[in-house]
Amino acid sequence: MPLSELQVEEIVRQVLTELAPAKPEGQPGICESVEEALRQADRSHKILYDISMKKREEAISNIRRLTLENAERLARLGVKETKMGRVEDKIAKHILVAEKTPGTECLTPTALSGDYGLTLTERAPYGVIAAVTPSTNPSETVICNTIGMMASGNTVVFNPHPSAKETSLQAIELVNRGAKEAGLPNVAFAAKNPTPESFSAMIASPIVRMVVCTGGPGIVKLTLSSGKKAIAAGAGNPPVIIDESACLEKAARDVIAGASFDNNLPCIAEKEAFVLASVYDDFLSLLVKNGAVLVSPEDTKRLEKLVLTEKEGKYFLNRRWVGQDASLYLDALGIASNSPRLIICEAEPNDLFVQEELMMPILPIVKAKNIDEAIALSVQAEHGYRHSAHMHSKNVDHLTRFARAAQTTIFVKNAPSYAGLGFKGEGHCTFTIAGPTGEGLTNAASFTRSRRCIMADSLHIV
Ligand code: NAD
Repeated sequence: MPLSELQVEEIVRQVLTELAPAKPEGQPGICESVEEALRQADRSHKILYDISMKKREEAISNIRRLTLENAERLARLGVKETKMGRVEDKIAKHILVAEKTPGTECLTPTALSGDYGLTLTERAPYGVIAAVTPSTNPSETVICNTIGMMASGNTVVFNPHPSAKETSLQAIELVNRGAKEAGLPNVAFAAKNPTPESFSAMIASPIVRMVVCTGGPGIVKLTLSSGKKAIAAGAGNPPVIIDESACLEKAARDVIAGASFDNNLPCIAEKEAFVLASVYDDFLSLLVKNGAVLVSPEDTKRLEKLVLTEKEGKYFLNRRWVGQDASLYLDALGIASNSPRLIICEAEPNDLFVQEELMMPILPIVKAKNIDEAIALSVQAEHGYRHSAHMHSKNVDHLTRFARAAQTTIFVKNAPSYAGLGFKGEGHCTFTIAGPTGEGLTNAASFTRSRRCIMADSLHIV
C-alpha cells in the first residue's frame, strides 16, 4: 500500500531525530570542543542537504516566532552580559531580525532556453560555514546568520565573541529549537568556550568551506587570509552631512535617534556629523532642543581622556566605556543630566572623536565651509571602509555627489541610520553588512555557490 505524504513525513522526521546528534536537553548545538562542533555540523549538513525547502521554511518560521517570544529575554541578557547597549533598542533589533531577515525566497533559480536546449542555474550551499560574531549584536547576528545560512542548506559553527558568549550560545540553542520543531537536525553549533584560537582552528579545518566574519579590523584581516571563500563584514565610521536644504528639525530628531540607537553600537550608526556653516548654529540648537546634551570644549577633552587610552602614540577605546548610557559619561564628568540619549560636542575634522569608531552615544559635530568640504571631510573620516554614510538634504545634486564620493554599502537619505537596516525603512534586514568582500547586506543567497546544469536539445518546448 503506498504511503501518504504525511506518513512519509513522519518516517523522515523519526529517522532525522534518531540521526541528529544527541545532546543534553537545553544545550542543542553547544559542544565540548570546536572539533566536535565541526564534526556535528558536517553530519547535520549532509542531512539538511536532503531536506525540502518547505521544511527549511517551516524551521525559519519557528525561529522567527521563538525570536519574538524571547526578544526581551535575549535583549536583557545581552545588556547584562556585555554591559553595553539599551534593552529597549535590543528588543527592537530582535523584532527586526525576526520579521525582516529573508529566508528561502532569495534562492530563485534562473533558466535560459534557446536553440541548444535548457540551462538552469541554481544556488547551492557551501556546506559547513565558520562564522564569528561580535559583542555588539551577539544574539541578533547568530539568529540572522542562521536563518540565511540554513535557508540555503548550510550548517554553521559560530565563534561568538568571548565577552558575549552566553548570549550568543543561547541564541544558538534557540535556532536549534526552531529547527527541531520542524523535524530538522541542529543547524548551528559552537564550542562551549570560544576563543580567538578556536576560530583559527575552525578556519584551518578542511570541514569548513566558507568563513563569515562580523567584527572589527583584526578579525576581518584574519578571515581574508584564510584561503577560503570569505565574507567579511567589518568596521565602519559613518559620517552624516546636514546641508542648508535639509529640514533641520527633522534632521536633528533623526540624527539623535540614529546615533543613540543601542547607545551607538550598530556599525551603521552616525558616528560624526558635518554641518554646513550656514545652518551650523541652528542645527546645534535644534539638537539641544530635542534632548542632546552639548558639552563644552574643556569637558570634551576630559571625555576624550575618559574613553580613549593612549599607548605609544596610538589611541584605543577604553572598552569599559563602549556602548554606555549617555548619562554615565556625564556622571563621570560631574555634569548633572536628565537621562539624555546623546552627548554632542563641537569638533575639528582631525579630532580623535571624529576619526575613531567610538561606538558610544557621543557625536562630534564639525562645521564645514561648504558642501565640497563636507563631502571631502566625510570621505576622509569614513577611512575607505565603504560601510555607511548618511545625509540630510533636499538637494538632489548634493545627495548624488556625496553618494558617489562615499562609495558606501549603505547610504541613508533623510532618515535615521537604522533605516539602512530595514528598521523603519524599506528593504530586508541583516546584521552582517559585507563591505570589504562586496556582498553588501547579506541574505540567504550570499551563502551559496552558483551551479549550472545544462540539458541539450530537450526540455525546450517552443
Ligand atoms: P571585535 O573585532 O573586537 O571582535 C569580533 C570577534 O573577533 C570576537 O569574537 C573576537 O574575539 C574575535 N577576534 C578579534 N580579533 C581576532 C583575532 N586576531 N583572532 C581571532 N579572533 C579574533 O568586534 P566587536 O567589538 O565585538 O564588534 C565591533 C566591531 O565589529 C566594530 O568595528 C563594528 O563596526 C564591527 N561590526 C561590523 C558589522 C558589519 O555588519 N559590518 C556588524 C557588527 C559589528
